[in-house]
Amino acid sequence: MIPGYIADIGLEVHAELQTQSKMFCSCPVVDTTRALPNTAVCPVCAGMPGALPVANARAIEYALQVALALDCQVAETSQFARKNYFYPDLPKGYQISQFEFPLAVKGTLSAWSEEGWINIRIRRVHLEEDTAKLTHMDQGDGKPFTLVDLNRAGIPLLEVVSEPDLHSVDQVRAYTRSLRRVLQYLAVNSGDLEKGVIRFEANVSVRPAGSDHLGTRVEIKNLNSFRAVTDAITHELKRQTALLEAGSSIDQETLGWDETRGMTFSQRTKEEAHDYRYFPEPDLPPVHISPKQITSARNSLPERPDRRFRRFMVDYGLEAYHTELLLSEKPIADFYENTLTYMSQPDPSLVANWITGELFGLMNISGQTMKEIIIEPRDLASLLEMLQKGEVNITTAKSVLSLMFDTGEKPGLTIQKEGLGQISDRQILENIVEGVLSAHPDEVAAYQEGKTGLREWFFGQVMQQTRGQANPSVVKSLLEEKLQQ
Ligand code: ADP
Ligand code: MG
Ligand code: ZN
Repeated sequence: MIPGYIADIGLEVHAELQTQSKMFCSCPVVDTTRALPNTAVCPVCAGMPGALPVANARAIEYALQVALALDCQVAETSQFARKNYFYPDLPKGYQISQFEFPLAVKGTLSAWSEEGWINIRIRRVHLEEDTAKLTHMDQGDGKPFTLVDLNRAGIPLLEVVSEPDLHSVDQVRAYTRSLRRVLQYLAVNSGDLEKGVIRFEANVSVRPAGSDHLGTRVEIKNLNSFRAVTDAITHELKRQTALLEAGSSIDQETLGWDETRGMTFSQRTKEEAHDYRYFPEPDLPPVHISPKQITSARNSLPERPDRRFRRFMVDYGLEAYHTELLLSEKPIADFYENTLTYMSQPDPSLVANWITGELFGLMNISGQTMKEIIIEPRDLASLLEMLQKGEVNITTAKSVLSLMFDTGEKPGLTIQKEGLGQISDRQILENIVEGVLSAHPDEVAAYQEGKTGLREWFFGQVMQQTRGQANPSVVKSLLEEKLQQ
């Protein structure tokens, strides 16, 4: 941002709610990047005349959880409305959404940014249905065409609208990640942006520093990756400040984002709510959520992920990087904290390293999630305690973990079975040390003539012969002793 200007950015985030079935029919919610096109379709989501929608209770429940995790005020009565517009991604000619009476309003979300913690106000959270996916084809023969896949039409979509509280690209990055974490953590969305399950629209304006009136905004549509969001906003902030610097004004309009050219382009002048001729959806009753239901959902809600994030950084002294990995799924965060509670001398960064490094590696190879693995936090804790006490070295601990991962057995038993324990027996090690020395008379002679650096080399030889299992301090003292002679 060039000095003298303030950026104001508000985001509209669309997240699919990954329920079993669609928002208003019983078609399955499929992975739209993999399923054969138009296989999860019925008269309701294909918009056949006379077909009647029925709201998905589970989707409402998921939406309620997200709204509460964002500290929103939940409406006891909300209502679906028809948002009318004509476009091939919308078979009915309207989208069922919420307008005047959204599910929830006035929440907050905190996020960790370069400048520290920021708080972003959430304006509203509402439910709607996703649209069909269009693929524009151009085979260069002058006859471009468009393919329509209705599998996505009718998938429950949650829209989270922020206030224009974001003032830099870094804050945008922090907010979008924090929001994605909430969705993943509550297990209502996979967070897999590559599959298009979260999509963004950015509202961007610029004003002179000192002015307390927001500038004229543009809305950038169809941003489907974190990269697209930040690149588009960066570009737009530059464009707008340059215009203001030159004494021009900003047009309120809707823009698209051209990823390859790295530019926004004008799509149309900004549409207003009345352009959509919203009216209450006559085929669906209002959504009632009783105060009792809200209270019980609130009570069963886990600790808010953004608060837990802060706690991990403050209480455990973890870096944002590790915290982010550990909080990507609730079962991972729980596994982490459980492991710590089983250790007599808990070492938060040691445990974070082992979970996000070794354990994630093993999970990756086996394709298992944290919920599926059979290794217990208690057993990881005792393995790491053995490591802390020097009873096993890192190499051995890694092999033990990999065996435990497959068998679910305790580290002690695994070490015993596989003969992986550390060798501290002086007699055994003495034999090995002597063996190494007598096999290398030239090196011994060189050592005695003053090449003392060779001690490290002898040490390496002993460790190699014992597959790293020799107790290093015993080996060192034996070498010291023998080389004197
Ligand atoms: P619409 O539904 O027409 O897009 P809203 O008033 O609901 O309009 O605003 C949508 C988004 O635009 C919100 O995220 C809001 O924070 C943001 N917004 C509104 N005014 C501005 C502005 N002047 N600059 C940046 N963002 C803005
Ligand atoms: Mg908008
Ligand atoms: Zn359907």
